[in-house]
Amino acid sequence: MDSISRNDVSRLCSLTDAAERIVITAHTRPDGDAIGSCLALAHCLRGAGKEVDIVLPDGCPDSLSFLLDDGWSREHLVSMKDDPAASTELINRCGLLFCLDFNTFSESRCTGLAPLLRNTSCDRILIDHHLNPDLSLFTLAFSETEVSSTAELLYWILLETPWTGGSASRLPAKAAEALMAGMTTDTNNFANSVFPSTLRMASSLLEAGVDRDSLIGSLYNRYEESRIRLLGKLLHEDLRITEDGVAYMIVDKTTLEEYGIREGDTEGFVNVPLSIGKVKMSCFLKEDDGFLRVSLRSKKGVSANRCATEYFNGGGHELASGGRLYIPKDIAGVRDAAGYVEKVTHRFMNGERQDGQ
Ligand code: 5GP
Ligand code: MN
Repeated sequence: MDSISRNDVSRLCSLTDAAERIVITAHTRPDGDAIGSCLALAHCLRGAGKEVDIVLPDGCPDSLSFLLDDGWSREHLVSMKDDPAASTELINRCGLLFCLDFNTFSESRCTGLAPLLRNTSCDRILIDHHLNPDLSLFTLAFSETEVSSTAELLYWILLETPWTGGSASRLPAKAAEALMAGMTTDTNNFANSVFPSTLRMASSLLEAGVDRDSLIGSLYNRYEESRIRLLGKLLHEDLRITEDGVAYMIVDKTTLEEYGIREGDTEGFVNVPLSIGKVKMSCFLKEDDGFLRVSLRSKKGVSANRCATEYFNGGGHELASGGRLYIPKDIAGVRDAAGYVEKVTHRFMNGERQDGQ
């Protein structure tokens, strides 16, 4: 990771000092990195005496709610989906907006919050690690792709601030735990996107007292049985692997209901087929209202990001991306998803452009 600009951190601190009310936001369907980064920054800003709230498009998934167990977080994390009135008021009244783990105000990344975010007149600070940021939206941008996670980028920024004086041990304990959670989930527990700086961060957070065993237990050993049963069914009955080395699994709403699957329960399914030697890219598609949610993961040499951008209305990182397939714009219905995936991934893997050239 390139080092953080001291000048930019000074600007971040001045903007923070000048703001009376601060809102932190992240992307729709927040994952561990989004929730972890928001909480870590919130705890640090609180420690610096600021009034701060977290406003998200969707609420915190149950699987991550253990991070909110501190008396403050649950009350100060609201979502547009669950409480549009409070979310609107907080965003409209804030003097400074932090945007974490996303970098555009698109409908697919911000859903219900997108129009509100676009209309804010306050300063906006970006802290993010995705490709292709829309820098015109931000007063100040920390945008770095050679880093494991937004949590890690935030960690290195925080170490440059007077709030920590360069020492991880001065982070509030809940902030340190949240940073470790964000980095751990985005690296898939150190399986990908691990940089030397990532291990340095992990080491310092451990020294600072983060209980990693307990964190891993909360993140990975608390699933509902239904999640594992559904994964078993999908791997056994539904996984297809094309001759181009593309694995895909599609799950429709009826099956999700049959298994009692909640938001966040299918997180990580897309990674599993990538462990098969001949698989170069893995696609996981999940039916939603009027579209299918698409997750893509690829091995080095295949760009999941380009495939998501060209064929699935999305983007993300080079080897981990996501997007959507709209019904009926892209496909007539969920039954046509398999045919679509086979067609476009064949084109993609064989280097043909979308226009056929
Ligand atoms: P996931 O497959 O875990 O949902 O997402 C993988 C990566 O792709 C994440 O870094 C996420 O930010 C990005 N991503 C997921 N969905 C979308 C989308 O609809 N649009 C864009 N631009 N990126 C997405
Ligand atoms: Mn992230």
